Amino acid sequence: MSKLEQLLKKISCASFPGVEDLVAVLSLEDLPEIKVLFDFADVVRQKVCGRGILLRGIVEFSNFCRNACAYCGLNKNNLALPRYRLSMSEILESVARVAASKVKTVVLQSGEDACVDILGLLEIIRSIKEQFDMSITLSLGEMNFKDYQLLKKAGADRYLLKIETSNQALYESLHPGMSFENRVACLHDLKEMGFQTGSGNIVGLKGQTLRMIAEDILFFKKEDLDMVGIGPFIPHGRTPLKDESQGSALLTLKTLALSRIVLKNVHLPATTALGSLEKDFREEALRAGANVLMPNFTPLRYKKLYEIYPGKRCIEEAGSVCVSCLTSLAERLDRTIDYSRGDTLKAG
Ligand code: SAH
Repeated sequence: MSKLEQLLKKISCASFPGVEDLVAVLSLEDLPEIKVLFDFADVVRQKVCGRGILLRGIVEFSNFCRNACAYCGLNKNNLALPRYRLSMSEILESVARVAASKVKTVVLQSGEDACVDILGLLEIIRSIKEQFDMSITLSLGEMNFKDYQLLKKAGADRYLLKIETSNQALYESLHPGMSFENRVACLHDLKEMGFQTGSGNIVGLKGQTLRMIAEDILFFKKEDLDMVGIGPFIPHGRTPLKDESQGSALLTLKTLALSRIVLKNVHLPATTALGSLEKDFREEALRAGANVLMPNFTPLRYKKLYEIYPGKRCIEEAGSVCVSCLTSLAERLDRTIDYSRGDTLKAG
């Protein structure tokens, strides 16, 4: 067994691996060695998730946001972006299209809309549950305990809240007016009230070191998450980070593979951001530990307005087209599309 394989085995067997070991893996530069890392992660993925690739249909129902996250094109200071909110019937029509494609999870995502109509949301969740056999993931940012509880009671199953970076100082420099502690407290609240909980990070943020990325992975481990989304930073022209360089696809893939090895029984998407670089890296992601894809079912006329970063893929295609394209991707990889709900891989 090579030295690298021994290191990967040590990391894989540890209940809480050492940060230096993770940094050593993230530092790999030699392509054949990186291939060893990806293959190791692929074996863990096969053991834990099998060949099936789960689909989550995403509906981006509002791009209003009260925050000023330095990387995000939806930030409130981007006055050039026309803002939209889908009506209740537009949301339900989109969810019906997700259901018609046999996808059993809908992800309702939005900016942090200061005027979020919580009662309207509860009604939407209840109607989805009445009309469709489908699980609901919410990704609406930070809310108070009471609102999270209402959403859970109405029938929402899962919640995604990316920590973006687990380094408090970096987090707070990128999120003016927001607090790291509150973001973590929200994750704890969500978990405590029974949501299947997801988080994740952005790779390649200005000021982010390999050690910080290693610590992100240990943060995911400590938080015992059900899903983790890992994507590269993509600069957006109407944000303070417009002149910074893009996150590296290779480092993002290394982070993903190492996360699979450390976290094991979590859902890891091949993120849309990884599919939106100079080429579509989602295929590589699926070979390096990922087991989830997220076709976009936002109505076509709004898709380009949910511009968190530029060059977002598939903004001209309907979600059903994405599903057939992803089916051929799965076939190319000798994998299958798994049309089940894809609940948490952790024992209840
Ligand atoms: N308002 C919600 C959803 C945010 S958008 C929330 O606060 O959770 C979903 C994700 O897009 C974010 O969590 C972030 O990780 C990602 N994102 C935003 N801008 C990005 C950029 N420029 N590059 C890469 N990822 C970005």
